[in-house]
Amino acid sequence: MASQEIETLASALARLPGLGPRSARRAVLWLVKRRESALPALLEALATVGEALVECDTCGNVDTTSPCGICADPRRDGKGLCVVEDVADLWALDRAKLFTGKYHVLGGKLSALDGIRPEDLNIASLLSRVEEGGVDEVVLAMNATLEGQTTAHYLAERLEGFPVRITQLAHGLPVGGELDYLDEGTLAQALRARRPLG
Ligand SMILES: [Zn+2]
Repeated sequence: MASQEIETLASALARLPGLGPRSARRAVLWLVKRRESALPALLEALATVGEALVECDTCGNVDTTSPCGICADPRRDGKGLCVVEDVADLWALDRAKLFTGKYHVLGGKLSALDGIRPEDLNIASLLSRVEEGGVDEVVLAMNATLEGQTTAHYLAERLEGFPVRITQLAHGLPVGGELDYLDEGTLAQALRARRPLG
């Protein structure tokens, strides 16, 4: 039997996405063995991130500053705006270094089942960014799920009338697939093959 403290840590770690109770216990053992080398750095990183993380007021990305590093980067082309469901999708696309424009995070997708309505998502702020001008193209990079596509069609309707080209990710996304799980090659193909919606 492990001590209460160790059990508490293991069950906290087990709540992390991708970690079950078994891998959480292995992570705890790994940390115990390296409590002098790896643990202080991990504690410091957790504390720093816990204090410093903020949501970007402009795009909804999570960073240590608002506006975030992407929004504040003058090398980014503000003419292209890529709309994603979640921060994880933004990070996945940005890791692949394929898109040189800026992003907008909806914070979810429309879902009748979960009661997620348009006003629950960052849609009003998207429309005002487009309304401000300077955006030529809005890339709707929703997941290739039924709800993702419903959300894309809804956004395309709301963006009608603005002088912007509306495109959508195409070939490469597996049906039912989520951006965060795709390899960079698949993401690259999907971004290259984006097409006008409707
Ligand atoms: Zn931002």
